[in-house]
Amino acid sequence: MQTIDQFNFAGKKAFVRVDFNVPLDENFNITDDNRIRAALPTLKKILSDGGSIIIGSHLGRPKGATDKFSLKHIVAHVSKVLGVEVQFANDCMGEEAVAKSAALKPGEALLLENLRFYAEEEGKPRGLAEDATDEEKAAAKKAVKASQKEFTKKLASYADCYVNDAFGTAHRAHASTALIADYFDTDNKMFGYLMEKEVTAVDKILNDIKRPFTAIMGGSKVSSKIEIIENLLSKVDNLIITGGMTFTFTKALGGKIGSSICEDDKMPLALELIEKAKKNNVKLIIAVDAKIADSFSNDANTQFVDDDVIPDGWSGLDIGPKTEEIYAKVIKESKTILWNGPTGVFEFENFSHGSKSVGEAIVEATKNGAFSLVGGGDSVACVNKFGLADGVSYVSTGGGALLEAIEGKVLPGIAAIKG
Ligand code: AMP
Repeated sequence: MQTIDQFNFAGKKAFVRVDFNVPLDENFNITDDNRIRAALPTLKKILSDGGSIIIGSHLGRPKGATDKFSLKHIVAHVSKVLGVEVQFANDCMGEEAVAKSAALKPGEALLLENLRFYAEEEGKPRGLAEDATDEEKAAAKKAVKASQKEFTKKLASYADCYVNDAFGTAHRAHASTALIADYFDTDNKMFGYLMEKEVTAVDKILNDIKRPFTAIMGGSKVSSKIEIIENLLSKVDNLIITGGMTFTFTKALGGKIGSSICEDDKMPLALELIEKAKKNNVKLIIAVDAKIADSFSNDANTQFVDDDVIPDGWSGLDIGPKTEEIYAKVIKESKTILWNGPTGVFEFENFSHGSKSVGEAIVEATKNGAFSLVGGGDSVACVNKFGLADGVSYVSTGGGALLEAIEGKVLPGIAAIKG
């Protein structure tokens, strides 16, 4: 497999798929440019080799071309952080894109307009009537798949080589994230630095495990994490179930959970997961006490109680001190750690202590040689909020992509390059 470090971009045009899907305020100011900064090492390497870059990205979920989702709003900022004036082509399939990419000289960069302005990028039909028949749906799908080939071929024709640095969309088999790779031979397609780091981090968690391996799965719902929990049960030594999903387990085991969030229909599944953990010799660690509140608010009245005796009208919004201690001990003894999802409603200051204590225990374990991977939107927000990001081994930029990779799925964006 080709690697970006070995590749010499001198005199070459590279199509680089990045994830510049950044949040913008109502005046189109970027409110968090982490995703742009994450791609800079790759873009700078190509330019400093003497190559030129055609940058492709999506922004939001447009249903067609709209000003709201135009990448023109970010050109000035990309130019500033890249240190090169980035040109813009306001239609990724238009004459301008063809002419500007053909005219690029070494050291120059061109940003294409939002690739998702075309339905062909995702390969999903648009504008179907709500009452469309199955036949109409099938015909529309066939049509967009057919034109997707032309779209992909044209994008590929702008460049000599292809670099995928968009881990956030690696779980999508879209034109620019996966299909385009077919138009380049093995020597001319590769991951960017960010993608390489993500792939390596996931590989450590899946295939290069130092034991004990502890996964901390938090967040609100069991239903959104079933597949990943099931896959982890054949890999980890300790599985900490925390956050709102705890209460589905506690109730299934006969506990009283008051008004805490619970998915009643998932209780049989919770019991199955408990059995599977036993069978696999996985230590399943469920919270024993909670910080409970009499309303869903930062200023609610609170008390600490055991998890299975929560009074009616009260709900558990964070773990309690006994649980914090149990978690911290397990985490500090671990050599591989995966953290996905907070222990409570960390957005409320008064219910963030548990998540912070988990983050701190991970940092300590990491100092003692453990490999720690934090991923999935909210745990990333947690480590950033508590200033702990530098103390863990790797903070993933991919939400859905990371979870699918850990579920054991083959990600199309990765397979397209790795073969
Ligand atoms: P997820 O997106 O599934 O990872 O869930 C993250 C969300 O779960 C965060 O917004 C938390 O506020 C929420 N959450 C965590 N613990 C609880 C809890 N005990 N009760 C209600 N919401 C929770």
